[in-house]
Amino acid sequence: MNAKTYEIWFVTGSQHLYGDATLAQVAEHSAKMVDELNSTAGFKAKLVWKPTVKSSEEIFNVATEANGNPNCAGIIAWMHTFSPAKMWIAGLKALNKPLLHLHTQFNKEIPWSEIDMDFMNLNQSAHGDREFGHIVSRMRKPVKVVVGHWQQESVRKRIDVWSRVAIAWADSQTLKVARFGDNMNNVAVTDGDKVEAEYKFGYHVDYLPIGDLVSYLDKVTDSEVAALVAQYDAMYDVAANAKAGGKDRQSVLEAAKLEIGIRRILEDGGYKAFTTNFDALHGMHQLPGLASQRLMADGYGFGAEGDWKTSALVRTMKVMADGLPGGTSFMEDYTYHFKGEESSILQAHMLEICPSIAKAKPRLEVHPLGIGGKAAPARLVFDTAAGDGVAATIVDMGSRFRMIVNDVKVIPTEAPLPKLPVAQALWKPMPNLEIGAAAWIMAGGTHHTSFSMAINNEYLTDFAEIADVEMLLIDSDTTVRNFKNELKLNEVYYMLKKGF
Ligand code: MN
Repeated sequence: MNAKTYEIWFVTGSQHLYGDATLAQVAEHSAKMVDELNSTAGFKAKLVWKPTVKSSEEIFNVATEANGNPNCAGIIAWMHTFSPAKMWIAGLKALNKPLLHLHTQFNKEIPWSEIDMDFMNLNQSAHGDREFGHIVSRMRKPVKVVVGHWQQESVRKRIDVWSRVAIAWADSQTLKVARFGDNMNNVAVTDGDKVEAEYKFGYHVDYLPIGDLVSYLDKVTDSEVAALVAQYDAMYDVAANAKAGGKDRQSVLEAAKLEIGIRRILEDGGYKAFTTNFDALHGMHQLPGLASQRLMADGYGFGAEGDWKTSALVRTMKVMADGLPGGTSFMEDYTYHFKGEESSILQAHMLEICPSIAKAKPRLEVHPLGIGGKAAPARLVFDTAAGDGVAATIVDMGSRFRMIVNDVKVIPTEAPLPKLPVAQALWKPMPNLEIGAAAWIMAGGTHHTSFSMAINNEYLTDFAEIADVEMLLIDSDTTVRNFKNELKLNEVYYMLKKGF
């Protein structure tokens, strides 16, 4: 993954009014919560307990410390007691890290026969958090509000989702995308404003000349190639023509050379995502299909035909999904299977689908490619396991970026596809093809997507909130009529929002 380990700071709000004894209890409670949350199985974030903040100065200080600390990916705020929210204005104004408002209470159930005013005054989140929520709302700060008792599994899951997104956001702030070749000529949806993308998402996009890559390829040694190909032979089912002694073995060796060269140039430049273009392969033997697949499996973002936005989003979604079951891949809507309510879309690409979504051991195959005019490239071929997934894209609407997310259901193909020489997934967009594809098209969505079976639309909703960009969700509740209205309302909202 090559992602850093980040901290999430847990900040508890209160005020001096309560006196030392109560504040000591507040601190003890929040420390216990942080310890227990950190011990949650599968919890990604390392929560770091911070001393209770009780004044405008303390709040401002913790916010600016968070801003200045590159290991801090975000802040969870919780008001155990009442923390007058004017004290939060300066700190929230300064805060530029993601914010989660945890609306919980240390105590779970009311002790009916014991409850007195001291108890009531200690367990005050119900009104303390409302005061905090007011100022966050008034200041229009992006925030995720999570409500429920902190020991409840669903609450912990929602904190984990947001933490993963905050980490992916931190990763995106320093993400460098390398483009080998420009966007494919004349394609509109894969292009966009790279200056605005760096401003909104942090994505920095560089052009790397093919000649620079070729000079890396020239330095790859035969023994390096042999060692990598031995790994291929061990990891995959290798087709007869691609095996040692097979007529296309040389293509596998060339593919390994491409992988080593591309990996090296990306590492040297600090790039964690890249694009290729089949029209820009000068000095290369073949389109780097296998290399793109294997680099994606290692956590790199990838976009074909110069699609830097999708490449960056693949990387971001891979960071969110790190360690979760299910894979994440670059994907493309390829061909339809019309069958009434069961209509589906065959997803694939010329070569570059990430083996993290493979149902079984991938097959390493070499076939000619009828495009690009180069030698037959090596590629991994596999089917995708059935299950729920999510397809996402970011498009440039001219005046703003729009994220579009579609819930999808991967289904088994009706028969094997022995003549299809690429990896594929067959899915039904939610709520069905008729509505799902109509909504996607009306929203201006790409033919390329970032697809994941490890995360769901909650992660992307949190990401759009942090990035403060438009997000359109197409799910089982979507209707064409409501979706059209949402598009129209958003046009007005985002135009007026510039004046907020
Ligand atoms: Mn494509």
